[in-house]
Amino acid sequence: MRAVVVDAVRAQPHVGEVATPSAPPGGVVVRVMATGMCRSDWHAWAGHDDIAFPHVPGHELAGVVTQVGEGVRRWTVGDRVTVPFVCGCGRCEWCLAGDAQVCPDQEQPGFTHWGSFAEQVALHAADTNLVALPDEVDFATAAGLGCRFATAYRALVGRARVATGEWVTVVGSGGVGLSTVMIAKALGARVVAVDRNPEALVVATALGADHAVPADGTDVPAVVADLTGGGSHVAVDAVGSEQTCADAILSLRRRGRHVQVGLLPPVDGHPRVPMARVIAWELDLLGSHGMAATDYPGMMRLIEQGRLQPQRLVERTIGLEEAADLLPGFDRATVAGITIIDPTR
Ligand SMILES: [Zn+2]
Ligand SMILES: [Zn+2]
Repeated sequence: MRAVVVDAVRAQPHVGEVATPSAPPGGVVVRVMATGMCRSDWHAWAGHDDIAFPHVPGHELAGVVTQVGEGVRRWTVGDRVTVPFVCGCGRCEWCLAGDAQVCPDQEQPGFTHWGSFAEQVALHAADTNLVALPDEVDFATAAGLGCRFATAYRALVGRARVATGEWVTVVGSGGVGLSTVMIAKALGARVVAVDRNPEALVVATALGADHAVPADGTDVPAVVADLTGGGSHVAVDAVGSEQTCADAILSLRRRGRHVQVGLLPPVDGHPRVPMARVIAWELDLLGSHGMAATDYPGMMRLIEQGRLQPQRLVERTIGLEEAADLLPGFDRATVAGITIIDPTR
């Protein structure tokens, strides 16, 4: 089969012929119909994760089951499916409690094994991790769900427990940030979007953000405090840098909740976090790491009802060759929204 192959850390990716995977016990193989490209793929390419090379990236996917491994009960060949980027083992106390997103024995396609920038991909513990796609949800829409959209949904619903009428500040208007804006509005919150890219703020506003604040050297927390009467109830850092993390935390009102979604790998040193403010104002600092398959039905219902429209976040669709070209520069991508790869092109 064809796949985007990375031979070594920071090597130029290329499209090559590799062996088709076979279904592991308890797992399946899926024909990839759409797969998203995100900054996590770039982190893996850049050597920020512990990955064996040569490697095939890709962790946001939707497709059709082509092989079913021994012991799988819930899935058959031909099923339309998607999957969270974290695949739990299905056996540990966290998986059994419905929290596969923090499973200590988790697998992640595109990280722990070859991923979905390919015609087919193997997925583990299918009965725990696969999500059936309703007919109304197309593959490109579903591919955008597994990482950024589901993470944003869980950040607001499962972690921050956003309530109607609350202010939510979203720092960063890329794929995960725009997902957060859309979901926060659907939950009845008021939203302040922050980004350094004016085009991204235009998109955030089109998705319903009440205010758009350019991160152009202005004092973001001071602007947010003015707009919200003392700070937002919830802040989300959707970028992952010392600056954006601090801006998000310092934009909160007293007793506010911060959710860290953007990855902060310690490659630039351990990030400084304004803990004095956290203590004095009794702020909650929360992490969000994807969302388990068991929590998908609530999100999927809102999509079927049209109250959430993740397809509006799809910015462009490309083929495998173009994906190979784009990956090394993806940390500097200024495109607003989600890039989808169609491996059948
Ligand atoms: Zn587990
Ligand atoms: Zn991702």
